Amino acid sequence: MDNFPSDIAIAQNTKMLHIKEIAEKINIPEESLEYYGKYKAKLPLELQSSNPTGKLILVTAMSPTKYGEGKTTMAIGLTDGLNCTEKNAIAVLREPSLGPVFGLKGGAAGGGYAQVLPMEDINLHFTGDFSAIEKANNLLSALIDNNLQNKKYSLELDPKTIAWKRVMDMNDRSLRKIIIGIGEKNGTLREDGFNITPASEVMAILCLSKDFEDLKFRLGNILIGKNKDGKPVFAKDLKAVGAMAVLLKDAIKPNLVQTIEKNPAILHGGPFASIAQGTNSAIATKIGLSLGDYVVTEAGFGADLGAEKFFHIKCQQTGLKPDAVVLVATLRAIKHHGGLTAAEFKTENVAAIEKGFANLEKHIENIQKFGINPIVCINAFPDDSQNEYNKLIALCALKGVTAVVSTAFAHGGKGSIDLAQVVVDEINNENSNYKPLYQPSDSIENKINTIAKEIYGASSVEYSSTAKMQLKEIIEFGFNNFAICMAKTPASFSENEKLIGRPSDFKITVREFEIASGAQFIIPLLGDVMRMPGLPSVPNAEQIDIDNNGVISGLS
Ligand code: ADP
Ligand code: MG
Repeated sequence: MDNFPSDIAIAQNTKMLHIKEIAEKINIPEESLEYYGKYKAKLPLELQSSNPTGKLILVTAMSPTKYGEGKTTMAIGLTDGLNCTEKNAIAVLREPSLGPVFGLKGGAAGGGYAQVLPMEDINLHFTGDFSAIEKANNLLSALIDNNLQNKKYSLELDPKTIAWKRVMDMNDRSLRKIIIGIGEKNGTLREDGFNITPASEVMAILCLSKDFEDLKFRLGNILIGKNKDGKPVFAKDLKAVGAMAVLLKDAIKPNLVQTIEKNPAILHGGPFASIAQGTNSAIATKIGLSLGDYVVTEAGFGADLGAEKFFHIKCQQTGLKPDAVVLVATLRAIKHHGGLTAAEFKTENVAAIEKGFANLEKHIENIQKFGINPIVCINAFPDDSQNEYNKLIALCALKGVTAVVSTAFAHGGKGSIDLAQVVVDEINNENSNYKPLYQPSDSIENKINTIAKEIYGASSVEYSSTAKMQLKEIIEFGFNNFAICMAKTPASFSENEKLIGRPSDFKITVREFEIASGAQFIIPLLGDVMRMPGLPSVPNAEQIDIDNNGVISGLS
């Protein structure tokens, strides 16, 4: 493995097709393409058919280590694997955020021989969607602060209640809390702060909207804060909607690119799963299902976050339902949940696999609760042993689940042919019978209880005094029917990242609520989850460079 080329070296050594040739494969007429250079194109919303017939495959994972367990890589590998077996499959995924690219985790365009291209562009500014989202978000901030000092057209906003923050696509902890409006003639002095762009409600809204009308409806319903009488004030009260939507006129259109094996991939939107719904836009998924027989999509972090939100937020709001679920596991993550440290991952240890399986087992049971029997995809790493695979496959079989090893990272699509076959068989058997665990009409507390107890395995839910007060207001403002979008660490089923494996007898505490009334969900904040991450002590940024020929290095 030491000689295995880096992701960027593999990407740079791959000759891409012109994007119009990729479009041809899925019957997109050339006049529908809006080119962004030779290898990227925006797709018009009209490519969504009213009754898409493609099958939807959701890729999710066990509770990940901090490096990620390879959902994106496995989703791309499965797409290529399906295409190897003459199936018309499209990967529909999120766009990466610059935070992780320059931070710890690196890019999010797959890895090894299962990548989407052009990986440098995709990992950097791509087609500018994140910048447009940032601008729309920050326009609303500017309008709010302008109104605060406007006597004639004042909405009488109470500055202390303003919940809307500015955003930037960068890990920058020092912007979490700031004071703005310092000095004479510089607006109203107040506390503000920045979130990272994938945590912006505008991102969540863009990814749930059906069309421009729905986008504008949702943007208008963004709750800004309260007026001096304690009544809610919305973006529509500031007449912000039209201008925000104009800034998103191109960002609302999905982006077509290609995999290393020249299969179609549609990348669009990028909400994080720890603090937002964690999956690409509904428009992109629907276009994929209209153009392909199979769509392979991903929900962020572990299934307790990404898949739960996919089922309860995306599926409930957009009418989508998955036909199969692939649950990605790695031996390293299982060993981590079995109590081993990173230095011990490389040595064969079947006992640790048995112990750490508890984490994967809980995720399997959770997916089964939604009426779908998952297929476990073991993402192969060079130090894995056959004995460990055999143990893991046998443990999955005891739960009635098929586990298949994928070597797509090392071998591309042909490393995922077995997985593709199992997935197609599962879909052909029409076993999937998706059902949500809660209904929108359930009370907010019941919805939170359902997620905490059924999905996390918590024994009880507690609320801080602030959260209790906010809960009353949520109901008073008429937001009871919104979905729940838990903000929680991905490292554990609990809110404490140190509780690895399958913790039990733990309580969770909702310390605060945030309201995303445009995205139509309520965000209970658990533990110390951040909406603006920080950089690690040795950030990836340090190794990234560009030479005099414009060739980029260090992206992974
Ligand atoms: P996720 O989508 O679950 O966060 P990614 O697919 O982005 O995970 O993979 C995380 C990182 O791990 C990437 O840098 C990727 O290149 C690397 N990776 C994934 N699978 C493998 C593998 N089988 N062997 C080595 N590295 C891998
Ligand atoms: Mg990913």
